[in-house]
This record gives sequence, structure tokens and C-alpha cells, in this order.
Amino acid sequence: MDLAKKIREIQDFPKEGINFKDITTLLKDPQAFKYMIDQLSQQLEGLNVDIVVGPESRGFLAGAPVAYKIGAGFVPVRKPGKLPAETIRHEYQLEYGTDALEIHRDAIQPGQKVAILDDLLATGGTVLATAKLIEELGGEVVSMNFLIELAFLKGRDLLTNYNIKALVTYD
Ligand code: AMP
Repeated sequence: MDLAKKIREIQDFPKEGINFKDITTLLKDPQAFKYMIDQLSQQLEGLNVDIVVGPESRGFLAGAPVAYKIGAGFVPVRKPGKLPAETIRHEYQLEYGTDALEIHRDAIQPGQKVAILDDLLATGGTVLATAKLIEELGGEVVSMNFLIELAFLKGRDLLTNYNIKALVTYD
């Protein structure tokens, strides 16, 4: 199945110059959604993943079904102030200013093998911050898996130590 055909592109959203990849058109298509989850799950075969981590919020949409499918647990990473129990935080640079992500302090045990799942790899800032949180808790990031990679933004250059896979690549 050609998943790229199921992704809608919206020019200048949320601001001018951004070609937004809208995955809602893929998710509402039962065959495409199943295919996406099956393919992402297959990429994790043999890695003995204990935990799938999904960054807010589209990482939940890919991460939770994959975790269920491969028999792993699911852990959310969220914007500050959303998680109710004790958290750790990682701040990271945006083009203008900083942003931050949080994870529950007890979400991952030292030595657990962790895969990060998200809808889209752009500059890599989000997934790198997510990896830092996991590593601070002693987890091992064994894989980073995306539905979409915007290869022209060179996110991989920031993520040289990691195993990265994407189902649809835009050059
Ligand atoms: P980054 O930290 O630059 O890799 O950005 C990744 C996050 O921003 C992903 O979780 C995406 O949900 C979102 N994102 C960035 N660029 C786009 C885009 N062109 N279309 C849709 N989502 C995007």
C-alpha cells in the first residue's frame, strides 16, 4: 500500500512556509491505519522492546497501537504540566526560544529497551529531547520509528547515535 497517497498536505499551516502533513486522512482509513501499525511493528521485530514511548500528541496515535501489537508497555511524553505524578523535564532549543518535554520519573526502569514512535521526523529536536529523558531514567533507546521523515530537514544529523526508520520519506 502507498501510504504517501493517504497523507493530506496543507500549505502554510500552522504558519506560512510550512507544508503540513495531515495524517488524519490516513488514520480514518481502516486499511491504511492497520497497514501503518503493522509496518511500524514489523520494524521493531527482534529488538525485544519493553516500552514504546510516544511524544505528545501524535506520537500517542502511532505509539499506543504499536505497543499493544508487539506486547510492550506504552509511556507518554508530554508538554510541561500535563503529567500528574513526579516528572523529569528536558528543555530544548527551537528556532526561536525553547520548549520542554516531561516524562514520569517512574515510567522507565534502568536497562529497559525503549522504542520512540512518532508521526513525523522534522528537525529531530522532539525525538532527541525524548531520548534524553529516557536515557536519564536509565532506559536504552534501541529504535526511533516514524510514519514520515522530512529528509531535507536533516534530522538524522542530530541523531547519529540512533537507529532511525520511517515508512514515508520526503526528499
Ligand atoms: P521536530 O522536533 O522538528 O523533528 O518536529 C517534530 C514534530 O513536529 C513532530 O512530532 C510533528 O508532529 C511536528 N511537525 C513538524 N513539521 C511538521 C509538518 N511539516 N507536518 C506535520 N507535523 C509536523
